[in-house]
Amino acid sequence: MHEVSIMQNTLELAEEYARKADCKEVLAIRLRVGLFSGVVPEALEFAFDVLKKGSMMEHARLEIERVPAAFSCSGCGLENLLLDIVRFDCPECGGILTVRDRGGELELAQLEVN
Ligand SMILES: [Zn+2]
Repeated sequence: MHEVSIMQNTLELAEEYARKADCKEVLAIRLRVGLFSGVVPEALEFAFDVLKKGSMMEHARLEIERVPAAFSCSGCGLENLLLDIVRFDCPECGGILTVRDRGGELELAQLEVN
């Protein structure tokens, strides 16, 4: 599963950071997940719960911020921010929505430590 290796990397990064900063515990990990990152937030949460056991992150919270992508309509110019791709036609004129800004990919946004 893709999300497991992503979470593994994230936790390693977080732990490395916390050790360098001389922290005992990580309280929260904040991730930004873009619509086009190909990552399922629920799968990340699942991987987090499994992988954090016995680590500095054992009691940490995982906060996932979903970053929308921007679409615009080729027909009427309507701009839309979407968190999920449900349909590719414009709600106003039925034109085709194209991606204008893919939004954030995937990043470790913030770490709360103790
Ligand atoms: Zn339109």
